[in-house]
Amino acid sequence: MLNIVLFGPPGAGKGTQSAKLIEKYQLVHLSTGDIFRANIKGGTELGTLAKSYMDQGQLVPDEVTIRMLESEADKSPDAQGYIFDGFPRTPAQAKALDQFLASKNTSITMMLALEVEEDELKKRLLLRGRDSGRADDVDPAVIQKRIDVYRNETEPVRDYYQAQDKYTGIKGTGSIDEIFERLCAAIDSLVK
Ligand code: ADP
Repeated sequence: MLNIVLFGPPGAGKGTQSAKLIEKYQLVHLSTGDIFRANIKGGTELGTLAKSYMDQGQLVPDEVTIRMLESEADKSPDAQGYIFDGFPRTPAQAKALDQFLASKNTSITMMLALEVEEDELKKRLLLRGRDSGRADDVDPAVIQKRIDVYRNETEPVRDYYQAQDKYTGIKGTGSIDEIFERLCAAIDSLVK
């Protein structure tokens, strides 16, 4: 299996690149942000809970997020591999993911981390807020909070994969196709 953690701050382009990667490598896309938004839209209990955190720029609690991710992954038992987008966002989530994959006799192949400067992130998020109306992309204070949460709570996840020698940084600026090519080159050099 090819199991990729696509990592990076809010607005780094994880969703955009995931869509291209799943097509090329025939992977299943698991985006916790997308799953939460689908639950909000569907008016589920999980959606109501998630929204109360997302609107503040906070992380949804680990226990809820992990359980949801695992049940979503179990919906595609025949997958050739997964792209984890927006997950894991805490070291506890990373550990849970390792255990989950080990129980399926597989593991994370690599972490690809999109690197984008903070000013560029803020610009992209505000633009997305204007175009898509995503609630958490409209208020500059919420955007700042998400970036701060990323630095404080999520960046340690990078060390977790670095310690396993699975980390690759990828420059996340330039055209969408240029960034995609960098990601593919990193995958192909490891997988071949
Ligand atoms: P972005 O990467 O632009 O912040 P996402 O769609 O990945 O967008 O996430 C949106 C929000 O959903 C996050 O700010 C957070 O509140 C919640 N969320 C997504 N993934 C996780 C996760 N793995 N753990 C906790 N909360 C999450």
